[in-house]
Amino acid sequence: MSTACVRVSRPIPQLGLRELEAAGLEIRMGGLDLRGVDALLCMLTDRVNARLLERGERLKIVANMAVGTDNIDLDATRRLGIPVTNTPDVLTDATADLAFALLLAAARRLVWGDRLVRGAGFSGWSPLLGLGMDVSGRTLGIVGAGRIGRELAERASGFRMQVLFTRRSGGVPLGELLERSDFVSLHVPLNPETHHLIGEPELRRMRPHAVLINTARGPIVDERALVRALREGWIAAAGLDVFEDEPKLAPGLADLANVVLAPHIGSATVDTRNRMAQIAAENVVAALSGAPIPNLVS
Ligand code: NAP
Repeated sequence: MSTACVRVSRPIPQLGLRELEAAGLEIRMGGLDLRGVDALLCMLTDRVNARLLERGERLKIVANMAVGTDNIDLDATRRLGIPVTNTPDVLTDATADLAFALLLAAARRLVWGDRLVRGAGFSGWSPLLGLGMDVSGRTLGIVGAGRIGRELAERASGFRMQVLFTRRSGGVPLGELLERSDFVSLHVPLNPETHHLIGEPELRRMRPHAVLINTARGPIVDERALVRALREGWIAAAGLDVFEDEPKLAPGLADLANVVLAPHIGSATVDTRNRMAQIAAENVVAALSGAPIPNLVS
């Protein structure tokens, strides 16, 4: 019998590769060629669509090294009977940390300040320099009260913040949350229902001093409307880890001083990425050995 073979679309931490090797799998590194391949270990940057999947005549699993699976055509995988897995939980803390870091950085104008100091524009303490917004005791609206949203609430409690939640199954309605919150942080998955969940009408409902944080997925926010909101003062600031047409930015976004931009690093810590690679590999090994598949999404 031929050795089972796994396509790993991009270089991943060694721990994941070792897991695959230990199971005796042949690893094909790079790209998305699924011919003669039994498993695909892929990333959120890979568009796994029906045309691609149909070339994988031996494909028995698509293991995404991410918790979101919006890059995969789940209707096609269901039709073809191919299980899809993700890597939940292990990235929850890292992503909640980054959301709170963006919140603090946007409220306290940290990146603006860093640029000022480096650019030799800092001429000493001044009573009116760099005035930002208090975080402690303010209201945080969390859109999507799942694993990451709930962990963000834990961090906010240390800052004595009042927390409002909205979710599919309960919480306060989105409109009310937007009107009452000083900070709004997005933690819903991207799907047709959440695409442009935050557009012009929603941004106009937010408070003029409010700050929007997005560490979920770019297309949840209408980025062109956000640029107008930040430029025209509908809201005060934003902190973004994800972008609508990643890695491109909406025109004008990078010119704004009231937005903090991060290069999609929500889960980018050494330990978290190690665990994500390991779990994605474990999902592959389980599927190919006929064991129950952990972290099954579809
Ligand atoms: P999760 O546990 O599945 O939580 C998702 C939450 O969103 C649930 O509370 C769900 O409501 C809610 N929700 C879904 N659709 C909604 C809607 N239309 N309106 C309001 N709420 C809605 O997911 P998670 O592990 O926290 O991850 C959330 C997302 O974060 C992922 O899908 C991924 O896209 C993103 N993420 C980004 C990074 C990064 O690097 N920046 C890292 C990790 C994750 P119910 O509770 O009612 O079902």
